[in-house]
Amino acid sequence: QSITAPDNLKPLLQDILQQALGVTRGKVADYIPALAEVKPDYCALTVATLDGSVTSVGDATTPFSIQSISKIFGLMLAMERLDEKLWQRVQMEPSGQPFNSIVQLEWEKGIPRNPMINAGAILVSDVLVSHYSASKSAVLSMVRGLCASDSVCVDRRVHQSEIEHGARNAALAYLMKSFGNLEADVDEVLDHYFWQCALTMSTEDLARALAFLANRGTCPYSGKAITSHRDAQRINALLSTSGMYDQSGQFAFTVGLPAKSGVGGGIVAIVPDYGVIAAWAPPLNSYGNSARGMEMIRNLANRLGLSVY
Ligand code: GLN
Repeated sequence: QSITAPDNLKPLLQDILQQALGVTRGKVADYIPALAEVKPDYCALTVATLDGSVTSVGDATTPFSIQSISKIFGLMLAMERLDEKLWQRVQMEPSGQPFNSIVQLEWEKGIPRNPMINAGAILVSDVLVSHYSASKSAVLSMVRGLCASDSVCVDRRVHQSEIEHGARNAALAYLMKSFGNLEADVDEVLDHYFWQCALTMSTEDLARALAFLANRGTCPYSGKAITSHRDAQRINALLSTSGMYDQSGQFAFTVGLPAKSGVGGGIVAIVPDYGVIAAWAPPLNSYGNSARGMEMIRNLANRLGLSVY
């Protein structure tokens, strides 16, 4: 792929953001009070290209709760520690079920379908808690390093709120524990999982942090190898098949990019050999994906011809 950003990328993004504001469906996540209070009219779109340019419109420097986008960061560290052994404990198949579904987990004997749904990310959190002496610092310092900035923080209210309203995630964790697929203490594992969901970043932070996935595992800005080429390909494959939960098929069909969403309203999409698109708008569709974010990424990918297929 050799797509160059048009010189008029900024006006194009402006136009796309304006059009997305016309999307009025969707509802801000309300499973925890801390997220229910977020203003629904935030809207941001950033494109970071491999040559180092970052183009943004809207609230692109406002930090928000990245939620499930953090599943990428946890997975990177777990892949580094367990390598092939990880795939005995979590599968690499799309689930076709909502992100917090529990039904398949019992049928499949406590082995989650993939690391992008909650059960899979809780399993990954177990690997981190069991294999890192300080799993939270390991994640935080990696993410800060990826952004080359200390601006990445954790929203303590969101973290606390997740713990208080975490019954379903606790059910997933205990079910895995009952099948012998969780090594560490369940409360510790859940605490790590909720903590990483509460990381706050802006679309500019996210786009820059994930640029290595568009560049075969190497950070295009520092030249540092973040993952191997093979692991970057594997992460992108998982994002393509599972990153948008049970809307991943539709996303592949209409957009055609590896992507990950979070219930904070953020979405990142990887454009191999080009860069990263990051969008944020809090109201969610029924799949838990940002309604305006989906529309912005679809519109941009279609207008620039970015589908990998
Ligand atoms: N904290 C959320 C949960 O565990 C994350 C889910 C998401 O962003 N899809 O339910």
